[in-house]
Amino acid sequence: MEKQPLNPNDKPPSYSAATAPKTNSSWQPPSGYSSTQCGGFTSWPPPPGYYPSASGTNNCNYVPSYGSTQSTTIIMPEIILVGGCPACRAERTSPANLSEANVAEDRGKPRCTTMPANEETLNVSSDQTRVNFVEKVCNNGLQNNLDRVCPDNHEEDCQNGCPGSIVKGKSNEHCHYKSLPVREIHEKFMRSFVDLLLEEALFMVSSLFVDPYGLLGQWLTDALNPSVYTYEVSPVFSLMEEEILCEMRKIIGWMDGSGEGIFCPGGSIANGYAINLARHYRFPQLKELGLSSIGRLIIFTSQDAHYSVKKLSAFLGIGTNNVFEVKTDNRGKMSITDLEVQIKKALDEGAIPLMVSATAGTTVLGAFDPLKDIAVICKKYNLWFHVDAAWGGGALMSKKYRHLLSGVELADSVTWNPHKLLVAPQQCSTLLLRHEGLLQAAHGSKATYLFQSDKFYSTSFDSGDKHIQCGRRADVLKFWFMWKAKGTQGLERHVDRVFELAQYFTDYIRHREGFNLILEPECTNVCFWYIPPSKRHLQGENLLKVLQKIGPTVKERMVKKGSMLITYQPLRELPNFFRLVLQNSGLTEADVRFFAEEIERLASDL
Ligand SMILES: *Cc1c(COP(=O)(O)O)cnc(C)c1O
Repeated sequence: MEKQPLNPNDKPPSYSAATAPKTNSSWQPPSGYSSTQCGGFTSWPPPPGYYPSASGTNNCNYVPSYGSTQSTTIIMPEIILVGGCPACRAERTSPANLSEANVAEDRGKPRCTTMPANEETLNVSSDQTRVNFVEKVCNNGLQNNLDRVCPDNHEEDCQNGCPGSIVKGKSNEHCHYKSLPVREIHEKFMRSFVDLLLEEALFMVSSLFVDPYGLLGQWLTDALNPSVYTYEVSPVFSLMEEEILCEMRKIIGWMDGSGEGIFCPGGSIANGYAINLARHYRFPQLKELGLSSIGRLIIFTSQDAHYSVKKLSAFLGIGTNNVFEVKTDNRGKMSITDLEVQIKKALDEGAIPLMVSATAGTTVLGAFDPLKDIAVICKKYNLWFHVDAAWGGGALMSKKYRHLLSGVELADSVTWNPHKLLVAPQQCSTLLLRHEGLLQAAHGSKATYLFQSDKFYSTSFDSGDKHIQCGRRADVLKFWFMWKAKGTQGLERHVDRVFELAQYFTDYIRHREGFNLILEPECTNVCFWYIPPSKRHLQGENLLKVLQKIGPTVKERMVKKGSMLITYQPLRELPNFFRLVLQNSGLTEADVRFFAEEIERLASDL
């Protein structure tokens, strides 16, 4: 009945609890809950087209992207899994009166975003989903589309026992489902399964978490099950990868998208590729002769860089001690002065400075290193300039925020994960290079069973040998699909919206008692302390000791309660602080306020 917020052309009318027509005027919020907590509605369900968000911010004319990969910050899925306001529904859909009718009626209801979750409602929600799903599978005869073999003397067992056996886990030893492909049977099974997914699962995902286009792309990829090593095996995906990587290079600012690139199994691996390429560029003989043919190499990265720089340096035989940590300033950005100090130190020690790995959007503080200044230093000392924009790269899609990465076009290599800020489904990660031919030179091994040189088409289309993987998933389709469907503009609006939400949250807690910002955020990471009322008089050492314990205690409580997940961590001398990372443009201002209010609730007695 109600309009789903996912239709780009559907703007819900702005909501006013006072003017909303009452659909069930005898309805009262469940005991213990106020009407405000239930979205301000005094009737339920809300009338068509109305959304239970007083701020009315979800009147999106773009498709929001949902995701929680970087994020550490999510509202637990179960709350929203079956739609509607869990607390409001708790009464009508307690396990006792869980009926098909109730469930069907509730499905697709807008949710009440200010509602605190509790164990009971969470259980109701996930039970409901399970019951729903299992019932459908059993009763709609999904499994009847499978061909069963029943031994003659067990005909009755098969009649009675088999239908539930797939999903209920009560396997009936006398029933055997034929498992070899019989085309008609499997087609019927697939169709019923897709119908079921469309009825049940699509609803779940459309209300949360996964970009719908990204998800469809992912499903399609899994259905096609390609491996992108050669053109003959994956012609469309091979070309699609080149196309997308070229577009990404254009966005970085490389003329006409020149250079090359690859999809990687994650940003960590992409950073590892960058190290190996920097090394190969300088010492091509290394590929054959190995590490002993060169001297001690040094990599420079900031104290706040992602741990993968060290991890992959260890993996590549460079050694973690040879990753020199450059100091950061009070905004978490790499200090140029200290970078030069570190480079000179390496030279004094007779080592070979190899590369700088700058970070655009550090994982914890969300800081952007000064790329232009770092490029100048790299030029001066002849160093490879890598930018780890795994997290912050998405900001390049936004006219408003791309200045944060200015200077990225001067890099030799860039790590950019569409599965982070742009929330393509996991995983979708790229390494982009200003140079051409280096990937094949550094990694190619010309396996004759795959990369024959006497094929009937140009083997330049066979991109597989540029990778260290052999068989490889097509991570491109889901991102291609999202990008095509929403346009660069849609991705830009997503980015702008999550930045806006981060700013909203920052302003919301800025003057709120007990909250203390660690720093003014540059990205969508908001880092802050919370001091509960009884501890606000403390100062100095005593306060630090208390803060150190607040993080883990509140985290434990939120995990056990199941209301949300916000991470915490210490950083150098700073005791544990919370880190809210916003990535989901489908959230409302009310959701974001919930994060702060829930921390207050969870810490009220500390
Ligand atoms: C997340 C992250 C990575 C690692 O990416 P994965 O895809 O998780 O391997 C690397 N660098 C930065 C700055 C990140 O935030």
